[in-house]
Amino acid sequence: MSSNDLSSPVQYIKGVGPQRARLLARLGIKTVRDALFYLPYRYEDRSSIKKIVHLRPEGLHTVTGKVLKADVITPNPKRQKFKIFEVVVSDGSGILKAKWFNQTYLKKLFSTGQQVVLYGMVKYNYRGTGFEIINPEYEILDENENEEANPSASGIHTGRIVPIYRSTEGLSQRQLRNIIYSVVGSSAIHVSDPMPLEIIKPYNLPDLQESLSNIHFPSASSASGGLEDLNRGTSPYHQRLAFDELFTLQIGLAVIKKGEVLEKGIAFSPDERLINRLLDKLPFKLTGAQEKVFRDILKDMRSPVPMNRLIQGDVGSGKTVVALMSMLAAVECGYQAALMAPTEILAEQHYINIHRLVEDLGLKIHLLTGSKRNKEIEVIASGDADIVIGTHALIQEGVSFKKLGLIVIDEQHRFGVMQRAILRKKGINPDTLIMTATPIPRTLALTLYGDLDYSVIDELPPNRSPIITKLFSEKNKNHIYTLIEEETKKGRQVYVVYPLIEESEKTDLRSAITGAEGLQKIFPHLRAGLIHGRMKPVEREDVMKEFKNGNIHILVSTTVIEVGVDVPNATLMVIIHAERFGLAQLHQLRGRVGRGSNQSYCILLNYGGSEDSRKRLEVMVETTDGFRIAEEDLNIRGPGEFFGTRQSGMPDLKVANLLRDAKILEMARKEAFSLIERDSSLAGYPQIRKSIEDLWGKRLELFKTA
Ligand code: ADP
Ligand code: MG
Repeated sequence: MSSNDLSSPVQYIKGVGPQRARLLARLGIKTVRDALFYLPYRYEDRSSIKKIVHLRPEGLHTVTGKVLKADVITPNPKRQKFKIFEVVVSDGSGILKAKWFNQTYLKKLFSTGQQVVLYGMVKYNYRGTGFEIINPEYEILDENENEEANPSASGIHTGRIVPIYRSTEGLSQRQLRNIIYSVVGSSAIHVSDPMPLEIIKPYNLPDLQESLSNIHFPSASSASGGLEDLNRGTSPYHQRLAFDELFTLQIGLAVIKKGEVLEKGIAFSPDERLINRLLDKLPFKLTGAQEKVFRDILKDMRSPVPMNRLIQGDVGSGKTVVALMSMLAAVECGYQAALMAPTEILAEQHYINIHRLVEDLGLKIHLLTGSKRNKEIEVIASGDADIVIGTHALIQEGVSFKKLGLIVIDEQHRFGVMQRAILRKKGINPDTLIMTATPIPRTLALTLYGDLDYSVIDELPPNRSPIITKLFSEKNKNHIYTLIEEETKKGRQVYVVYPLIEESEKTDLRSAITGAEGLQKIFPHLRAGLIHGRMKPVEREDVMKEFKNGNIHILVSTTVIEVGVDVPNATLMVIIHAERFGLAQLHQLRGRVGRGSNQSYCILLNYGGSEDSRKRLEVMVETTDGFRIAEEDLNIRGPGEFFGTRQSGMPDLKVANLLRDAKILEMARKEAFSLIERDSSLAGYPQIRKSIEDLWGKRLELFKTA
């Protein structure tokens, strides 16, 4: 093989045989390129060399000196097997003993007269009379670099900022570092930079080869920016690699978007007659933000390009009405409209709410969920349903619409780029509106929904006073009863929410039931109701109705009520085992109160007790800003888990971090979209095409043929 073939197997790297190749494969390193892009996860500064005379114990230090003595000793004659390899070095300022336990093979490497660099923990010796360095990392300098003046010139493991990699059993940090050192030395210069200079240059980013070399083995000059930048992944070299990765990601999204734009959609021309009737009926005026967003939507709907728009709006910002108005616009033009929710419960709740709002507009509304199918499917296919509300069942095989014009996807985070592509592949090409109640940090929105246009409802309806949130521990649990008493005395209503986590669903449910019974006993003069996911939809609906019209004062529930429930008279939300919820979910739950003009409260009962869970929950007390909460949640859980990126079909990112690299993401996005504008097939950029294939794999194929 030639050393410039980056796709050659690692086995051909110097020092790698079949066995090490197998170990490397466990780390995902199969080719020379993989090794080059296998980045350190942290760095240690072993570059500042201390004079032995200046050493102080209890700390990691680097020293360099000449070997005076190197011996294996047996400190305890009764334990012949216990051996210590000892080296004594001198740097002219003093003498230091280095000790390695049970590593007698080192004897073969060290000999007197060598110049060495040692890095390790400095401690008092056994007698407390001097210092020694224990199990240090070591470097034996070449003859010709035997000068104290320049010990870092050949350092791999010491005398420099040293990379630390995630390794695997059987492959030591030192071995792995040696392998990568050799790969960087021989192959980094053969990496050809896929990024055109005109894109990279304005951002002052270093070139790719330089970045790869320095990200592994920062040169003394490059490290001047600091160990911290390297460790945070914000060094210029990290930024360069992150830029490439995010650029490639965004190019993929730009390609998808371009494909969507080229498709033919419906040009609606609604006369807004149904919409105006709805508006007349509403007990409130739309907020400016709702107006504006609805105009964005209408503009999209009127154009023949299929709409793909994301609507972001915090809990309670009034997305439902906007969605409904959009659906009415489609219905006015003789099309069907569908609203898809991720769970049956949510679908039912939307059905109840929307049904109530449009009952007397003479429209036919249907509910389609997994458990309620056959009859409904016929109705939908026959066109005898104007608005269909349902779950994923809506896009499953066997469901066909007579004339579907608009699909609204609510609470979309489990419904990503891929699912939308599937929808189009079914041959349905309706306008699509995606609603999210979970505020998505802009950086994530740009990535996960980077092919979408988006609008934000950035204003809450007037007369809402901020909810007061308090964190309770088990100790002050009883105070909750006082609060319930106080609120209900004022004629207000209360939610008490229990977690429902799949693994322990039975016990969870039991505790919700017990909770309801308990509250009923404590408050015999009030009525406590119970609602959970195991109940039949009609039963649930009955309980909800009773709560809505005030006949139930305390509603105990599982997370059923997370989204969609709307009872403005409810002013107290108590969340039991708050530590078992994600922050974004707590934010949704809290959003069930504070919907009227009365002061509302949210009590988070933390049974966790741990410092971590308390800190996490503190965020809820500090802010009601959904964006901040989402960002915090993202920090804690990582984007993959937060939004299920894996299910959503987005490529995994190796270098870039969407939170940390938000600025780079914006730059990369701008450049990527403008490049696709200039050269939509990337005919002039074969290298970029190749990078896209590497990152996106087959996923992009789906879009090409869609
Ligand atoms: P979300 O955005 O969380 O889905 P909803 O659509 O459920 O919010 O609306 C929250 C509450 O605010 C509902 O009671 C709704 O009727 C009410 N609402 C919506 N828009 C307005 C408005 N412009 N003025 C007053 N109340 C509004
Ligand atoms: Mg909603």
